[in-house]
Amino acid sequence: MAGKRDYYEVLEIERSSDPEEIKRAYRKLAIQCHPDRNPDDREAEEKFKELSEAYSILSDPGKRSQYDQFGHAGVSGNGGFSGGFDFSGSFSDLFSDIFQDFFGGGRSGQRQRGFRGDDLRYRMVITFEEAVFGTEKEILYPKLAECERCLGDGVEPGHSPATCPVCDGRGEVHYQQAFFTMSRTCPNCGGQGRVVENPCSKCHGEGREKKQRTLTVRIPKGVDDGTRMRIRGEGDGGLAGGPAGDLFVQIQVREHPFFLRENNDIVCEVPIRMEVAVSGGTVEIPTLEGPVELTVPQGTQPGQMFTLKGKGVPNLRGSGRGDQYVRVNVEIPSKLTKKQKELLKEFTSLSKPAAYKTVSRFDREFAKYKGE
Ligand SMILES: [Zn+2]
Ligand SMILES: [Zn+2]
Repeated sequence: MAGKRDYYEVLEIERSSDPEEIKRAYRKLAIQCHPDRNPDDREAEEKFKELSEAYSILSDPGKRSQYDQFGHAGVSGNGGFSGGFDFSGSFSDLFSDIFQDFFGGGRSGQRQRGFRGDDLRYRMVITFEEAVFGTEKEILYPKLAECERCLGDGVEPGHSPATCPVCDGRGEVHYQQAFFTMSRTCPNCGGQGRVVENPCSKCHGEGREKKQRTLTVRIPKGVDDGTRMRIRGEGDGGLAGGPAGDLFVQIQVREHPFFLRENNDIVCEVPIRMEVAVSGGTVEIPTLEGPVELTVPQGTQPGQMFTLKGKGVPNLRGSGRGDQYVRVNVEIPSKLTKKQKELLKEFTSLSKPAAYKTVSRFDREFAKYKGE
């Protein structure tokens, strides 16, 4: 792997480039050094392989983020291109991949028409409660969808397309690569077998136009901040009969004034008065289902935790719920009246050491420490 060039450098793009820019850069360069156009040119072939490898990583959002974080090491072992290029095994695969990307063909035997539409991303902000119990949201977003004028055909109504002269309507052309005869999708018609001479005036022959899509998205109970949901086929529509891309809904959960979430458990901190901690009593605390009374025993310590079983977040997969943890903060009054001070003095005079176990233990240890 030594001497491997940076993938962004290979594609001559910025690290911040979006998927569309990556695709464009790749196509531009791949056409230049394509082995088909540079027969018996080792250098062009190497460059083409390097390019394809870079593109295979950067065009995949998951692999790209791995690469951004860890460099080449982050994407090795993912199969395909890592550590040495398997020439004999994957060259034809590589070709069909490339052409699928270029012209919308497919691997031999399962040819697919057209180009797949782009995936889209939608960021959805929901409340803490919505994340816990699930919800349904209507979203509105722009996407490329079938043109209404030509019904996705790309042909101006009243006209019909002509047979592609390059492939004679077969959608496929043959070429020689070393000892093999390979077939690939026709570059002239993108495998459609036809060419449009009178493109639709509304979409300019693309068959797609920008539209506002309204979609009801069901958010399952138990989702968390950062959860990503894939909605198949709701991305941009395909080109030339290709399938639609997917829509990815990225969940962002708003902060809650009381609750912090830890997986399926909820933690909340509740301040109580010193007198309640000393004598015991009940305090009203929030839960996801509304306020409840929590009984605090006599002698409750600062930071003491109480567990409310099954008051947490429902499990996203499977059944059951997490718990709610209540951490009690004891507040000591910062101001006392004269009368309170007197009473406290009296209170102190009545206190026995045994009532303060931790302080008594500390005092004993400390006496030893001082050599008394
Ligand atoms: Zn053709
Ligand atoms: Zn149209």
